Amino acid sequence: MSQKERINLEDDYDRWQWTCPNGHHDWEPTNHHFWCAACARIPEVDASFDELRDQKTGRLYERDDVELHTPAGPYDSDLDGRGSA
Ligand SMILES: [Zn+2]
Repeated sequence: MSQKERINLEDDYDRWQWTCPNGHHDWEPTNHHFWCAACARIPEVDASFDELRDQKTGRLYERDDVELHTPAGPYDSDLDGRGSA
């Protein structure tokens, strides 16, 4: 279970597959968590969350269990310990 799931943030299929724990697609990554715009509009719901839901399997993945990618490159290359130069 050391292999990370790869998520392309700009990919429609990936955006469909991965949701916040409440099933929304409007999330975005923050430095160590995720944030959901749809949850932010619901009173009494915390818009910040730690685990993304994979709609294909129903499993939850923590921030460290996924690799986030954008068209410009890895989103969190500063977090995985390489590429500092
Ligand atoms: Zn949500």
